[in-house]
Amino acid sequence: MWFVTLPRLTRDHRHVLGELEGLGFWSDAMSQVQVWLRPFAAGCFGWQDYGSTGDIHVPAVAGPRILAKFGFIEGCSLRQLLRHEWAHALAHHHHELVANRDFRQSFDGSHDCGRAVRSYCPTWHISPYASTEPMEDFAQNFMHYVRHKGHIAGHWRTKFIQKRLGFYTFTTSEAAWHLNHLSFSGGL
Ligand SMILES: [Zn+2]
Repeated sequence: MWFVTLPRLTRDHRHVLGELEGLGFWSDAMSQVQVWLRPFAAGCFGWQDYGSTGDIHVPAVAGPRILAKFGFIEGCSLRQLLRHEWAHALAHHHHELVANRDFRQSFDGSHDCGRAVRSYCPTWHISPYASTEPMEDFAQNFMHYVRHKGHIAGHWRTKFIQKRLGFYTFTTSEAAWHLNHLSFSGGL
């Protein structure tokens, strides 16, 4: 379907929330994120207000979705879009998870640097879009990690992509996430 309806957004969003909760990516702060159905966006599948409200916006009609329907560009399912935008929401509300040396070592640059740190290479990047900047690398890997519950297919099992995916395993490990969850849920 090339357009997004409210019932469809509600259904797919509920599904993705279940995945996030199941993997331990949930907190009081995350529950403050609002997801909005917008009428139209010309240049993107959706967006997230990183650094401002933290909310997620999904256009009912999106230029790239129409182009994908006719095969001009690669498509993005609504669930994949939501997983991607929730990665940005996670970084927005729990910034300490991405503002550290582990992140820089895993993604070859700082989360907020706003530029490409390495040109696209399929053994390094899970998708071309992931190479545009570390923040998007984080969101693209998170999207696949959540979809596959951490069990990533063979062609992505390169040393470099595994390094990135390992970051989420660390993030969701009981000690790391529990501490972060406690420290943030009390303060927001
Ligand atoms: Zn993004």
